[in-house]
Amino acid sequence: MNHSLPRRTRKNDACLSRCSAALAGNPNVGKSTLFNTLTGLHQHTGNWTGKTVACADGQCRFGHTLFSLTDLPGTYSLLSDSPEEEIAAKAVCSGAYQLIIAVCDATCLERSLALVFQILSLTPNVIVCVNLCDEAEKKGIRIDFALLEQLLGVPVVGISAAKRSGIKGLLAAAEEFCGASPVFYQTCEAPPDHSMKKAEVAARQTAVRENPGYRKRDFRADRIATGPVTGTLLMLLLLLFLFWLSISGANYPSRLLSAGFDWLEIRLAALAGALHAPDWLRSLLISGIYRVSSWVVAVMLPPMAIFFPLFTLLEDLGYLPRVAFNLDHHFKKCSACGKQALCMCMGLGCNAAGVTGCRIIHSPRERLIAILTNTFIPCNGRFPTLISLITIFFVGTENGILGSLPAALILTAVIALSIMMTFAASRLLAATVLKGAPSSFILEMPPYRLPQIRKVLVRSVLDRTLFVLGRAVMIAVPAGLVIWLAANLRLGGETLLQWGSAFLDPLGRLMGLDGVILLAFLLGFPANEIVMPIILMSYLSAGSLVESGSAAELFRLLSANGWTWTTAVSMILFSLMHWPCSTTCLTIRKETGSLRWTLAAVLLPTLFGMLSCILFTAAVRICSVL
Ligand code: GDP
Repeated sequence: MNHSLPRRTRKNDACLSRCSAALAGNPNVGKSTLFNTLTGLHQHTGNWTGKTVACADGQCRFGHTLFSLTDLPGTYSLLSDSPEEEIAAKAVCSGAYQLIIAVCDATCLERSLALVFQILSLTPNVIVCVNLCDEAEKKGIRIDFALLEQLLGVPVVGISAAKRSGIKGLLAAAEEFCGASPVFYQTCEAPPDHSMKKAEVAARQTAVRENPGYRKRDFRADRIATGPVTGTLLMLLLLLFLFWLSISGANYPSRLLSAGFDWLEIRLAALAGALHAPDWLRSLLISGIYRVSSWVVAVMLPPMAIFFPLFTLLEDLGYLPRVAFNLDHHFKKCSACGKQALCMCMGLGCNAAGVTGCRIIHSPRERLIAILTNTFIPCNGRFPTLISLITIFFVGTENGILGSLPAALILTAVIALSIMMTFAASRLLAATVLKGAPSSFILEMPPYRLPQIRKVLVRSVLDRTLFVLGRAVMIAVPAGLVIWLAANLRLGGETLLQWGSAFLDPLGRLMGLDGVILLAFLLGFPANEIVMPIILMSYLSAGSLVESGSAAELFRLLSANGWTWTTAVSMILFSLMHWPCSTTCLTIRKETGSLRWTLAAVLLPTLFGMLSCILFTAAVRICSVL
């Protein structure tokens, strides 16, 4: 039976009985995986605590019942005071649901049951769903479900959400509750007493560990992954490996895409000719919009399609909290929070997501530090620019598999620099406007889990890569139009682009750049991925972009416009450190609720970037004079 009803509602829904249910449970027990399995939606899943910071809603049909499901953020207790845990606690206490599905971790039953006992003290409309049964079996943990059901007095169902096993049993049990009316509570404030004690006794009675040494392998791996020297070394090596695979693997598909776009362009030009389209329209559509969009796709898609899945595999393996652990003492030295490392990792994908992810940091002061410094980590929109510049100015354009290694090394060094700049900016904030001592927190190390390779590959390509790319193209199309207009509309003999760049030129030169580059950064405010296309368009007298992705031609064009290796370094520095993109600014405004802090988030990286560029350029100029 197909029990999922993704997004759409069906015509005969009116005849279905309805049931509202919330998925509650500790973090990292598989709630989002279960939610996705039931609804067919694609909530972010990952093997670390705190990644779900907001509720998600979906629907699922089973037999004659239509379930409205809510995936709540993870919580250890209904009395928690962190924002995302409060959301979960309030939802459970709100009485808005006919049923609470309390999701538990079969490998760690005792901790999950403490929350279950708290929920049971508020409502009897509960199903206890013991997830990760496949993992428990591998670890030699046997659970007596019948006895657990007897002890708790509510249905208990064992499932493996990732393998879709036990789902029917869960939905059949859930169906029984559909007639129930939601219970309304005044408050969550009367905590169930002794829930921890009760949980310990119930877990001891019902879960038998047949292999008590089951975590030995994890401990051994952690000795390397979180060791004082080996931890940092492994982090750098993994980063290097990810970049090397992304750059070398992207070479060939990038060239293929470029060739494909060029082929199509010739056909489009021929079609425009056959239709007798006026020259200005041809230039606007083909040389403007088409070339900018195809540059974005040809240069962005291949490395992203490799980097995202690899990064997601590490996330699913449970490596990210180990990164946070390794960086914790550095953040502590800056009076910031070690969990900031997790927000940084999210920022690598998208800074707006990184800023929202800062909700996992409970201290408002430390959360603000993490939000204001998130843009120091380059998001995927800036990677193509960094990779292109490193490749054409420092490595050479013809790369084989091993030829990509120097580019990967430089990129790793650039990311290491951005992490150090994050420390410096955090320290500056903590010493000035956001003074305070670092708070203590518990960082949970999840067990290493074998990544679900097929699912990760499909989902990260479809959900993340194509989503990000789609957004980039959506912005590139109107941006291509605006840039074309600015490059072709003349005012007193000069184009608008020339006016703007001439105005910014003195500041640009001081920073080792030029007016065109600064203007491109300003016009790239909607999305960082269009900065490079704007620069290229501006340099071309025709006012349109060259061949979609040829690195050799890019090098010729930039050199002809006065670029040297020092311009490339300044450009890399300013790419790392300048104002956040428009989406991130809006997210910062939403998360901080303050225009002042949003402005601070714009000024902080911009000042760091300008200062770094000016100092670097001055140093090079002094050295060349000496
Ligand atoms: P949440 O924080 O409770 O929403 O947990 P997620 O749904 O993000 O899952 C946490 C991790 O557990 C992810 O790496 C999932 O792939 C993994 N996971 C979830 N359910 C299962 C399962 O049934 N079996 C296995 N082996 N892994 C699972």
